[in-house]
Amino acid sequence: MSIQFREELVNLTPYKPGRPIEDVKKEYGLEDVIKLASNENPLGCSSKAIDAIKNALDNLALYPDGNCTNLKEALSQKLNLSINQIILSCGSDEMMDLIAKTFFNKGDEVIMADVTFPRYISTTMMMGAKPVIVPLVDWTYDLDGMLSAITEKTKLIWLCNPNNPTGTMFTEERLVHFLNSVPKNIIVVYDEAYNEYVTREDYPKNSLPLLNKYSNIIILRTFSKIYGLASLRVGYTMASEEIIENINKVRGPFNVNTLAQVAAIAALEDEEFIKKSYDVNLQGKEYLYEEFQKMNLQFAPSEANHIFVNVKRNGGEVFIDLQKRGVIIRPMVGDWIRVSIGTMEQNKIFIDKLKEVLHK
Ligand SMILES: *Cc1c(COP(=O)(O)O)cnc(C)c1O
Repeated sequence: MSIQFREELVNLTPYKPGRPIEDVKKEYGLEDVIKLASNENPLGCSSKAIDAIKNALDNLALYPDGNCTNLKEALSQKLNLSINQIILSCGSDEMMDLIAKTFFNKGDEVIMADVTFPRYISTTMMMGAKPVIVPLVDWTYDLDGMLSAITEKTKLIWLCNPNNPTGTMFTEERLVHFLNSVPKNIIVVYDEAYNEYVTREDYPKNSLPLLNKYSNIIILRTFSKIYGLASLRVGYTMASEEIIENINKVRGPFNVNTLAQVAAIAALEDEEFIKKSYDVNLQGKEYLYEEFQKMNLQFAPSEANHIFVNVKRNGGEVFIDLQKRGVIIRPMVGDWIRVSIGTMEQNKIFIDKLKEVLHK
């Protein structure tokens, strides 16, 4: 007799993360490798976060505060929200899982874009819900197409703004129109992992007041991107008290560790580090745009910390050729790759190697 796994797993594949630097160094015998593959902060994190971790190292034998009380308080003050509207998770990744466990019944329809963050489809399928895919138009969310895809069976809609991997955004006006058009029994998950990088004025810079108007919205943010704490795994989510209460029923009791909690509190306070990260990203973006234009490469306009660019050659091949030269990026669909914006030094190395690989 053979082991029977849940039927929902048949069509799932494990998540493929960006390749670790050490791995690539070993495979190609390289001394210097840069990773521009996972949208990490090239400046690292706030030194205040590191100090906070050092000060917490005496407490490793104790379970963390399962309620993340201090971090919730810090967030509640900063965001001007009630503590009961906030919940913490082991990265936003875990929150996508918890949302799926909270809402999806077998056969529910769940609307999402393509291409977008791959965890939306995997958590949906994991629960036996049915993904309904609405392709991007000009590499941007087709919100009207998503509205047209709503049926009686629709349970939830995943939105990512700016979108990963394309870096494109939709405006506040479009978002509000969308929320006004979605029936109130359908959950809208609004993933803002890159919101701190956005430069455009018509972006919904402060989405939190939407919580008062729309009881069906769940807003996701993370400490993994501009805060530079990806390794610690901590994300924060805002929604109605009723939704938070129900997500708490499926959450593990100690899902955010102590070091992550203290570092996140310290990171929140270091506005100077955030400003610097924003500036470095913006300069890097302008440099990369210029170089892509000189090389005649098409790219999607990015409001995030990564650029989706067409290298006019198979992305998988370019990925391998760049890797051999010590630069890790992400191959996407067809001739498209995604490159994370690094420090200016890293960006220049990337462009040099890309020119080599593309014979420019
Ligand atoms: C990186 C990213 C996240 C954050 O993931 P964590 O689990 O918090 O590290 C969430 N959503 C999108 C779209 C992302 O690109």
